[in-house]
Amino acid sequence: MSFRATILTLYPDMFPGHLGLSLAGRALERGDASIEPVNIRDFATDKHRSVDDTPAGGGAGMVLKPDVLATAIDAVSPEGDMRPRLLMSPRGRPLTQARVRELAEGPGAVIVCGRFEGVDQRVIEARGLEEVSIGDYVLSGGEPAALILLDAVIRVLPGVMGNAASGTHESFETGMLEHPHYTRPQVFEGREIPAVLASGNHKAVDEWRAAESLKLTRARRPDLLAGQSAKEARGKPPPQLQGEQILLRPAREQDVADRLALGRDREIVQMFGSELAENDSYSRSEAERFIDGLRQHPHAWVIEHEGRFLGEIRLDDIDRQHRRARLAVGLFDPGKLGQGLGREAIMLVLKHAFAKMRLHRVDLRVLSYNTRAIRCYQACGFREEGRERQAALVGGKWHDDVIMGILAPEFRAA
Ligand code: SAM
Repeated sequence: MSFRATILTLYPDMFPGHLGLSLAGRALERGDASIEPVNIRDFATDKHRSVDDTPAGGGAGMVLKPDVLATAIDAVSPEGDMRPRLLMSPRGRPLTQARVRELAEGPGAVIVCGRFEGVDQRVIEARGLEEVSIGDYVLSGGEPAALILLDAVIRVLPGVMGNAASGTHESFETGMLEHPHYTRPQVFEGREIPAVLASGNHKAVDEWRAAESLKLTRARRPDLLAGQSAKEARGKPPPQLQGEQILLRPAREQDVADRLALGRDREIVQMFGSELAENDSYSRSEAERFIDGLRQHPHAWVIEHEGRFLGEIRLDDIDRQHRRARLAVGLFDPGKLGQGLGREAIMLVLKHAFAKMRLHRVDLRVLSYNTRAIRCYQACGFREEGRERQAALVGGKWHDDVIMGILAPEFRAA
């Protein structure tokens, strides 16, 4: 089976670009992969063949029209097409080697390249586009990002790389950066190849490479190592914690419907420091993203009450060295506030944090006007430790954030 990519773009001439050369070029020639650029403009219906319009709500730039893009997607990816639909976007999940491998194992991809300010949100939701970012910077269009994604995918397709083993030790494949490389001459400008590499002792070479790889990763990308422990922890969902009125348990897919039904309440949103726009509705894809985020999180629980999803509670930023974490909690049903449910959830998590995880300190931040929450935290034993002045701009006014914390001995003594 060959990998089939269809690219929706306003610049079809940018394809196959560099992918027509070298390793990828040969894969395309052999038919291991195919790249078909399709011009979004071909699906415009007005006489000017327009594909973009001004942003709703005002502001700079233009936005790709949902109707034209949806018609283009439907034409190249009719019902039954099993290929994932990707949208290159700086707001997307960062592309990883693991996602690259997954894509390479599938039938291909339909890739939408954004331009201007981006794409109308409704087509992203209506056509189930997976937003993919290639890094924390902004390009002028999705085409170079699509070329990069395809480059990474094509090189791991079966038979594309000459020496298959050279793929599996590379950076990110093992969750770490790769060790340094050397080749002849033995001495270059007074610098020698490390002696172990000439020793002929394969075990010693492997150990040296593993140590160098770890050293480099620690120095340059400690986040990869942190990611590993998060991944390990993800394998084991957080334990269920049973209270009197509530149950704390890992999130599951079925929670999406309950989360969606609760939507966004103006007062609750304000307590988190945001504001609801007029007619702001909570979409299914937002609910899915929310529940997905909880499922990916190694220390996040759903607060279940009377058999239904009511809210979330998390321990974020866990620091094993200093044995501390940050607590975050949210109840989304305004009718259930003030009944002690949040307090019960916090006490269950604090007990778990101090007794089972052996943390020493749990802290949190809360907006100074959220007095109901502050009273609840105080009742759980949190003390005010300080304030970040004017940390949030809500309703056109600056508000302080209150920093609160509780230590293990304080919790045990209470
Ligand atoms: N207004 C957008 C924002 O701030 O998120 C940026 C739009 S950008 C100028 C135009 C298009 O380039 C995007 O729609 C996307 O397709 C592509 N693009 C830009 N940066 C990207 C990145 N880091 N990863 C993937 N695609 C990117």
